[in-house]
Amino acid sequence: MLNQIKGLHHVTSLASSASKNNAFFTDVLGLRRIKKTVNFDAPDVYHLYYGDEAGTPGTVMTYFPFPMAGRGRPGTGEVGTTSFSVPKDSLGAWTERLAEMGVEGLDADTRFGEDRVLFQGPDGDAFALVGTDGDDRTPWDGNGVSQDMAIRGFHSADMRLRDEGASAELLKFMGYEEIDRQDNVIRFRVPGGNEANVIDIETLPGAAHANQGAGSVHHIAFAVENRARQLEVREALMDTGYQVTPVIDRDYFWAIYFRTPGGVLFEVATNEPGFATDEDTAHLGEALKLPSQHAHLREALERTLEPLA
Ligand code: ZN
Repeated sequence: MLNQIKGLHHVTSLASSASKNNAFFTDVLGLRRIKKTVNFDAPDVYHLYYGDEAGTPGTVMTYFPFPMAGRGRPGTGEVGTTSFSVPKDSLGAWTERLAEMGVEGLDADTRFGEDRVLFQGPDGDAFALVGTDGDDRTPWDGNGVSQDMAIRGFHSADMRLRDEGASAELLKFMGYEEIDRQDNVIRFRVPGGNEANVIDIETLPGAAHANQGAGSVHHIAFAVENRARQLEVREALMDTGYQVTPVIDRDYFWAIYFRTPGGVLFEVATNEPGFATDEDTAHLGEALKLPSQHAHLREALERTLEPLA
């Protein structure tokens, strides 16, 4: 069993409109845009990152907005709900805020004893705010959401699967422990993590496979401290029979990817070097940053990419 994985690093989803996506995460949810770059594998579209002040692993929600993308169809083989942690006593204020701002899909429930506010992003993305106690991560409060209610970072991601077996085994191999079961949901937590420590598996044996599109999660990334730990994880996964990509330089972290038995794309990303490698923490996310391989496209991209506030 591995002990290098320290919780979620980031969650990456698909969107249609970049400007609507940007407005939702900064103005409605109050996160900080920490990087404005392009999709390194498809540089004609943005890659937008939102998180806490520094883009600490475990707080980072990222998007590929494809302007022409149709909406995804939810189903199995994907991450369903992405959950953020907020102080328990702020859920009422959040419900009011989201309703006032016209956010769709507002609902509430309780999972494993924790109250949640459910809501949708601009492309029908499934989100929850989970009321927690004692999450001591310092939130970003620079976008009009006060410190006492601001999002602390991820609480969990929820994988919707037809059959939990092989994916549950994989999570355990990655260092996660099964901690609870409720109805068709199994909860896993990684000990000694970064607070974004929980993965839920929701089993839906009769449900259709998801179709990815705007509002779908593209992949979830797990955090490791550095490149040495990442190589250990890569080797262990390959020894177990997983097809893992070579290490890819994403400028702000190094990444490896592999497809899980249930169909969800997993990434393992390093905490180093972080988002302040090419701009000051005080100005993160303001300028369009391009990786060196796409630097020659700057003039064209500045002309074609939708301007963002
Ligand atoms: Zn990623």
